[in-house]
Amino acid sequence: MNAFQKLGLDTDVLQAINDMGFETPSEVQDKSIPILLAQETDLVALAQTGTGKTAAFGFPLIQKIDSNSKKTQALILSPTRELCLQITNELKNYSKYKRSLNVVAVYGGASITEQARSIERGAQIIVATPGRMQDMIRRKLANISSIGYCVLDEADEMLNMGFYEDIKSILSHTPKEKKTWLFSATMPKEVAKIASKFMNNPVEITVGSKNTGTANVSHEYYLVNHRNRYDALKRLADANPDIFSVIFCRTKRDTQKVAEKLIEDGYNAAALHGDLSQNQRDLVMKSFRTRQIQMLVATDVAARGIDVDDITHVINYQLPDEIETYTHRSGRTGRAGKNGVSMVIISKSEVRKIRTIEKIIQQKFEQKEIPDGKEICKIQLFHLANDIKKTEINHDIDPYLPTINEALEEFTKEELIKKFFSVEFTRFFNYYQKAPDLSSESAGGRPEVSEGNTRYFINVGSKDSFDWQSLKDFLKEVLNLGRDDVFKVDVKGSFSFFNTDEKHAELVLGTFTEFQHQGRFINVEITKDQKSEKKGRRRERGGGRKNNSRSFDDSKNGSFGKRKRSSDRNDKKGGRKGSRNKNIENSLKRRRSKA
Ligand code: ADP
Ligand code: MG
Repeated sequence: MNAFQKLGLDTDVLQAINDMGFETPSEVQDKSIPILLAQETDLVALAQTGTGKTAAFGFPLIQKIDSNSKKTQALILSPTRELCLQITNELKNYSKYKRSLNVVAVYGGASITEQARSIERGAQIIVATPGRMQDMIRRKLANISSIGYCVLDEADEMLNMGFYEDIKSILSHTPKEKKTWLFSATMPKEVAKIASKFMNNPVEITVGSKNTGTANVSHEYYLVNHRNRYDALKRLADANPDIFSVIFCRTKRDTQKVAEKLIEDGYNAAALHGDLSQNQRDLVMKSFRTRQIQMLVATDVAARGIDVDDITHVINYQLPDEIETYTHRSGRTGRAGKNGVSMVIISKSEVRKIRTIEKIIQQKFEQKEIPDGKEICKIQLFHLANDIKKTEINHDIDPYLPTINEALEEFTKEELIKKFFSVEFTRFFNYYQKAPDLSSESAGGRPEVSEGNTRYFINVGSKDSFDWQSLKDFLKEVLNLGRDDVFKVDVKGSFSFFNTDEKHAELVLGTFTEFQHQGRFINVEITKDQKSEKKGRRRERGGGRKNNSRSFDDSKNGSFGKRKRSSDRNDKKGGRKGSRNKNIENSLKRRRSKA
């Protein structure tokens, strides 16, 4: 007897399960399905993301629906359009051997009349987001007055998203006798409130930390200085060449910024947040699913619908405001029996939050060091060797082989291997060989004015509608400088500060003599307190520490910082600055997009 058969499921559902390739029920399925099949009861089931909750309510629900009646018999509420579609899809799969059972998805951002028409044709199950469902009820486009079952899926997320009132109102249109099944990953106060207010003696099921959903995920944290966050992220990616990840930021703005930087640095990355149109979001998700995107930078809200199974890493670029949200983030990896890693990049002051999270997830974090350049080079080399091993030979090359052979005749196999690796690898090596250690102990204190940099005062600021980004762009353009040449832009009300390498000082001061912008004179001066500031710092440092005399922070100056400077020196004045670095960047870009 099949393990699913034992739960009491009918042949048509069993057949569908067989088609899907499910062999054994997950714990939450094992616990919920028999109860839901055998009893008419309310139920609260708590289980981690990725533990198969959809099937836990989906299988019994399908079995309980009377497909001879066209009446709407069940309503499933879910937080996002993506989840809504996903559940609808799954239910269609589960019920493919059950004739004339119709499942209709109802969600915002699509034609409501089209959805209403589908319901009119007879939808025994409606899967809806709360907002659109409210609309439907208000406009009398759906009738849920005689449903037998209401499922609140991902209840914690729905409440997080502020759907309490909508849920309450929707439930008021359902019959008292219906059964309510609530599924959630966590049980915050709001969920408990729903359970006690709208449910009747629910059976409670908790799938503890022993369930596969969490056991498959290991948790790591990396202590870095705040300003090194981005570089730490890059290194984590470089140290995991096959990474397929979601990177969480706190705000839409940070999400966009980090994604843009990653793209600029040659990674296959994209942003996913609420400021994108539905269409844009769909495109991003499509590229992510097909692995064209390896690093998806997302806000918590936007990531809610991500239903991709093979995510290898979740990276918390910033911890969430609500610590409970961490569970949702880390639950994006380690799904469907696979292993996953959830990484957190934090600064010292946040370590106590890690302890709080450990209590919530009942799992320990491992503190790890951001890999250094050497380590990353080693990893990349082995990865390259593996890639070569796996590569299928392209026989279109064959006709050219004699010529190639001739050109390379003099080299032994060993030499050839070395040469091939050097072609691919030297630039990578150069990028990392002088990269600083990013672990927070070794990387100085707060950002500082480096020797060799000049800090300026400029008499425009936020009052002139500048923010740091637009001012940086403006300066780069006016000065005709490269991306990393203007940095530490600090915009205040009616004035701002910025830095350049001291060798640009003449150019900066020269450009801004009698310079007018939108009818206004723009005045730039070297800041007065710069020198005293520098002196103070130097004394403070006391010459005791090595590696610290130049705190090049690679997000601003690039890890190319030092190299760039020496290559610049070789440039004739006015020459294309940092072109060599661009080459390195581009070739890294190429390398990565090939991978
Ligand atoms: P949750 O709602 O708990 O986050 P899902 O219902 O989305 O989890 O399921 C996560 C993944 O696990 C899906 O890809 C689903 O197809 C798969 N899955 C669910 N149940 C089983 C099972 N019994 N055996 C194998 N895979 C399963
Ligand atoms: Mg789910």
